[in-house]
Amino acid sequence: MRVSGLFEKKAGKPVISFEFSRPKTDKAAANLDKALVLLKAAEPDYVSVTFGAGGSTREGSFQLVDKLKNEKGFEVVAYVASVGLAPGDLVESLDRFKALGMETIFAIRGDAPTWDESYKPHPEALSYASELVSFIKERHDFCVGAAGYPEGHLEAESKDKDLEYLKLKQDQGAEYIVAQYFYDNQYYFDFVDRARAAGVTVPIVPGVMPIYTVKLMENLARLCGATITDPIREGLAKLDPEEKGAVGRFGIEFATEQCRGLLKQGVPGLHFYTMNRGKGVSTIVQTLRDEGLL
Ligand SMILES: Cc1cc2nc3c(=O)[nH]c(=O)nc-3n(C[C@H](O)[C@H](O)[C@H](O)COP(=O)(O)OP(=O)(O)OC[C@H]3O[C@@H](n4cnc5c(N)ncnc54)[C@H](O)[C@@H]3O)c2cc1C
Repeated sequence: MRVSGLFEKKAGKPVISFEFSRPKTDKAAANLDKALVLLKAAEPDYVSVTFGAGGSTREGSFQLVDKLKNEKGFEVVAYVASVGLAPGDLVESLDRFKALGMETIFAIRGDAPTWDESYKPHPEALSYASELVSFIKERHDFCVGAAGYPEGHLEAESKDKDLEYLKLKQDQGAEYIVAQYFYDNQYYFDFVDRARAAGVTVPIVPGVMPIYTVKLMENLARLCGATITDPIREGLAKLDPEEKGAVGRFGIEFATEQCRGLLKQGVPGLHFYTMNRGKGVSTIVQTLRDEGLL
């Protein structure tokens, strides 16, 4: 499945996607299996599998892609992160994904693993995702997607420069963009306006990250630079700390409301970061369907 073709096929209806990562333990694999039952019933247009930037964990990505596509029957997009890979490993990874039936690759640079202080990017690795997009396009007929940053990428020289490089990814062949998550829709709307003004014409799909726990929210936001907004801080402060599941329920309500606002503005899709959990995203999607928004 080519994601570019999905936008055409759905003719203006939002393309719904769920993101997963390789489970690192047997227990995590069992939990993912449970989540997959709920999320299969939510009928996404496709699911996607992240790629460990260290490079050495890529076997787990191949296995999860294979399982989701060939055992569980999902349409799948594989991610490739270039930072940990020599050109030969990159070619091998692309060939493996081709052999597993992938038609779309999401091309990212990747980040150094936070838990490994000794980590160094591969000395021969490509420097930027735009180079990866053209590397892929030169070798395979994959549809290629790339990442965009409504609040600007943490390392960007400026938001304008960041957009220049986003446009470069499109110029090298990226056919759609998935945006990093945000907790205020205005970041996304402003980003799309600026991207259009900079010549980016491909669909820009908003990323949605439900709040699962406060700790996870704080950690992820620190890593990717997402602003934790006042309505979130105020909403969380009102919760009873003794009430089991209160944060998860708040997270579902907050993300559902965010999605309503996005869908009402006619976004091309919704990309959910599931963190390999089933309940939150399946509840959000079901609510939006019941309300006739999907
Ligand atoms: C939807 C989504 C999925 C993701 N999945 C993964 C994953 O599976 N694995 C993983 O490791 N990470 C993943 N990430 C995180 C991503 O790898 C990081 O955000 C990373 O820091 C940047 O990746 P990129 O592809 O945007 O890089 P790039 O587009 O290369 O940008 C990186 C930085 O370099 C700057 N830049 C770009 N081109 C140039 C240039 N020519 N000259 C100077 N500066 C330049 C940009 O402004 C930016 O600051 C994901 C992010 C998103 C939004």
